[in-house]
Amino acid sequence: MSETTDFTVPERILVTGGAGFLGSHLVDRLLDDGHEVLCVDNFYTGSKRNIVHLLQHPRFELLRHDVTFPLYAEVDRIYNLACPASPIHYQRDPVQTTKTSVIGAINMLGLAKRLKVPILQASTSEVYGDPEVHPQDESYWGRVNPIGPRSCYDEGKRAAETLFFDYHRQHRTDIKVMRIFNTYGPRMDPADGRVVSNFIVQALRGEPITIYGDGSQTRSFCFVDDLIDGMVRLMATPPGFTGPVNVGNPGEFTMLELAEAVLRLTASESEIEFLPLPQDDPKQRQPDISVAEGELGWRPRIDLESGLASTVDYFRMLLSVDPRAVER
Ligand code: NAD
Ligand code: UDP
Ligand code: UDP
Repeated sequence: MSETTDFTVPERILVTGGAGFLGSHLVDRLLDDGHEVLCVDNFYTGSKRNIVHLLQHPRFELLRHDVTFPLYAEVDRIYNLACPASPIHYQRDPVQTTKTSVIGAINMLGLAKRLKVPILQASTSEVYGDPEVHPQDESYWGRVNPIGPRSCYDEGKRAAETLFFDYHRQHRTDIKVMRIFNTYGPRMDPADGRVVSNFIVQALRGEPITIYGDGSQTRSFCFVDDLIDGMVRLMATPPGFTGPVNVGNPGEFTMLELAEAVLRLTASESEIEFLPLPQDDPKQRQPDISVAEGELGWRPRIDLESGLASTVDYFRMLLSVDPRAVER
């Protein structure tokens, strides 16, 4: 395991995309660790609901800002998470998605370069596309369609990784690139079309569970607390450790298995409905996490059953206080 930076000294930390699903959990963790957080978000997909509990926090500051525009701030570290992450959101305005990934990366790297501070990029397993290598390790270059409906996200994230490594080689910027695999948990947007939120909301409302294709495609689902722990550990690695590092849960499930688990946990009587598979939908995905285990001393602790149970509790609570949350 690598030697880690001393995080006992409170720092001022920038989190872009801090009002989103992962960003808001990261902000909570950093505040709990005693840091000051500057949360930058344009609320494209994020929600005040995710950070409302922090608005009066003395060490929390919120700035509504679009990362495709330059940002001048004084911070000690940067986590760059700003980017819509679910297919229906990133495909709504694909040009803006590429701009956010690419121009957003340039601006945040420019900021990191000027301040000489470490910067972590929330990259994605989507850089592997529809992989012919299974499980995927970091040396795999991927199989991505450059001109399809998912390309704005996949190629945007690939270009951002290129920029991170070029700033590192050209300007010695201290970069950390994290390839995040499908993550779920409380504060997922119930209306963003991702499979875990869709299935739970459908089960709780007694609506049909929508399986795209025959349900044999696989994903590996990581609970959000595990993921955030991996992110903080990666940021704590010494300068020069760049990644990329896969962070995800290697437990691999078909969408049919996921649907059955959700039905069981919610005791729902929803039917299963089969709908067409979207174009370029990857058939299988599972992280090889040897690098995260070896370099970060990280491995996921929360299994799908218990992670889903707390996610179900969250959606049950959300739908009881705000039944229309699912429509936005
Ligand atoms: P999310 O949509 O909940 O959060 C993204 C946040 O970025 C939102 O708050 C949104 O308003 C903000 N944002 C979008 N465009 C912006 C812009 N131009 N300027 C400022 N803010 C902007 O998604 P998430 O699931 O929390 O994902 C966070 C990051 O992690 C993303 O970069 C995503 O690509 C990456 N990631 C997530 C997953 C996952 O399973 N959740 C998997 C792989 C990678
Ligand atoms: N930038 C920023 N904040 C800073 C420094 C830079 O937003 O504190 C942006 C700025 O828009 C710039 C980009 O980051 O265009 C890239 O910065 P860099 O210094 O790499 O390039 P240059 O300024 O030469 O274009
Ligand atoms: N999916 C599904 N039903 C849904 C939503 C998604 O069967 O209601 C499938 C989708 O086709 C994909 C998998 O679940 O094969 C994961 O989809 P998601 O959008 O959550 O993540 P990604 O495809 O980006 O990994």
